[in-house]
Amino acid sequence: MIDLHSHTDQSDGTFTPTELVDHALEIGLEALAITDHDNFEGYRQVREYAAERGLELVCGIEVSSRSEWQRGSIHVLGYFPEGPAAGFCEWLEEIQVGREERNAKLAERLQEAGLDVTLEEAQAMGRNMTGRPHFARVMMRKGYVGSIEEAFARYLGENGSAHVPREEPKVSEVVGRIREAGGLPSLAHPVRLPFGRDLEMLDRVIGYLAGRGLSAVEIIHSDHTVQDTNAYQALARKYGLQVTGGSDFHGANKPNVHLGTGRNGNVQVPKSFLLDLVQSYKA
Ligand code: AMP
Ligand code: FE
Ligand code: FE
Ligand code: ZN
Repeated sequence: MIDLHSHTDQSDGTFTPTELVDHALEIGLEALAITDHDNFEGYRQVREYAAERGLELVCGIEVSSRSEWQRGSIHVLGYFPEGPAAGFCEWLEEIQVGREERNAKLAERLQEAGLDVTLEEAQAMGRNMTGRPHFARVMMRKGYVGSIEEAFARYLGENGSAHVPREEPKVSEVVGRIREAGGLPSLAHPVRLPFGRDLEMLDRVIGYLAGRGLSAVEIIHSDHTVQDTNAYQALARKYGLQVTGGSDFHGANKPNVHLGTGRNGNVQVPKSFLLDLVQSYKA
């Protein structure tokens, strides 16, 4: 089995890259993609470490984008069999700047709401990337909320009282940039799209993105039911796309999601997903 979706403490996971590789080996994964948000630092740190231990490590990324049709965020995974081309990382840095501006405003909003949570405290939790999950952890540590979920529901999420929207690139731009940089873009966890389980909408979105360079759809994910996976697989086939899958492991930031196996074993990704994906890249 393999896992093509995981996060380290270089974005909003809690495992160091080394701990993640060790854990992957422990549970017997054959291949692992590190797909941190907006940066490759985790992958870079353990590339050799993983190779020396016989784990196939895939260079990946997850980028949030703006839906072109309605409010809400669309996550796109990118896989780079030969690493990202020059220029891509500069583009990621622009995204990081937008995130930092949002974070500063978010800290202000939290303080206005009477919470003693500073930008510096959140930044101390996030290394290469500070995001809302880091604010959530500070809020938990200080006893303002009992869980990460509660922090999002009450304060940080779209309907939270301190919500600050972030400037995100359009989804077609993200797909195009990944493609141009030699990557294979995959539509992440379709179940979390702004329109939920509306398969007609999803059909349109996948059709549109397939015409703009989308390579794959993430059909297996911790949040997907068997029915979801089957429906997404049918759509991928309809548009001639590859399929990907992974747990979306975040360590203690998502305590019920396990590397390789997801929630209660609902994730099982065969090695063939990766072989077919790489094959499509060479073709
Ligand atoms: P950011 O990119 O800083 O806006 O934060 C987005 C990240 O927060 C996502 O990638 C998720 O990992 C996490 N997240 C978003 N919504 C929730 C939620 N309701 N509960 C827990 N984590 C969430
Ligand atoms: Fe995340
Ligand atoms: Fe995601
Ligand atoms: Zn993820």
